[in-house]
Amino acid sequence: MEAEVSTRSRAQLDELVPSRYAVKVGDIEVIVISDGVLAPPAESMATNADTKSLNAWLDDRLLAHDTFGWALNAVVVKTPKQTILIDSGLGEEYPDFPRAGHLIQRLKAAGVELGSVTDVVLTHMHFDHVGGLLAHGVKQQLRSDLRVHLSAPEAKFWERPDFSKTAMPPALADLARKASLDFLKEYSSYLQLFDQEAEVADGVTVSLTGGHTPGHSVVRVQSGNDRLMFGGDAIFPVSFDHPEWHNGFEHDPEEATRVRLRLMAELAASRSWLVSTHMPFPSVGRVVAAGDSYRWVPVQWDY
Ligand SMILES: [Zn+2]
Repeated sequence: MEAEVSTRSRAQLDELVPSRYAVKVGDIEVIVISDGVLAPPAESMATNADTKSLNAWLDDRLLAHDTFGWALNAVVVKTPKQTILIDSGLGEEYPDFPRAGHLIQRLKAAGVELGSVTDVVLTHMHFDHVGGLLAHGVKQQLRSDLRVHLSAPEAKFWERPDFSKTAMPPALADLARKASLDFLKEYSSYLQLFDQEAEVADGVTVSLTGGHTPGHSVVRVQSGNDRLMFGGDAIFPVSFDHPEWHNGFEHDPEEATRVRLRLMAELAASRSWLVSTHMPFPSVGRVVAAGDSYRWVPVQWDY
């Protein structure tokens, strides 16, 4: 039995698909780790667009009209004193998403032991962001003095979550409810709640944005003149051409659009790197203003 398990883990460690990408932000190392890919219906990427416009956007990229290959990324930030995990992927409880849930294995493959993580930052409590922490055996490997940073409005929201403005089918809303409750139950003693902003480490700040969920937050990393933002679910692949398109997972799509426009203007002005949960791996790039919309300029891979 033991031999079987170790063979399987080795096969996964040796997988050929690239699952990690590191970038230096001054003295701070940021490693993007892919949790895999989700496959929501394409129409959930633009719930306020007409079918023709969305299909034209998909056709331009030779993408199918039915499901959208939606990457799922998390990030590890290493400062001289701390190792910070931002979001935790899908975990293993959701058999309907067979191509995601790889984060824990891939952290190991990247040389990041769960026991070395000093801080976790959660951009919000959707199951594709907290699920990894609920996977079997994960909590036991984490340090007992781990700090989990979460905005107070996010914790409050999930006491009585409102899905009325989302386009999530009831079954998904139930999954989201359950994951947030399970998470709050398992990790309540680790929680470090903040109202607007918290300094997680020297040069690493988490800030409330709201929008996607009422407590949604982004993480800014700055060292010397270098900057990087982990934007969570504020910006999606369609958002550069159509920042006004609503996403079906947004609990307040109007506010999410305002947040997105504000962050994209900031990113374009500051030339900061952006890493976004659902941009294709490695999800590292810059934002350039282009008339009324924006362009995504992906990083040149540094081999
Ligand atoms: Zn998400």
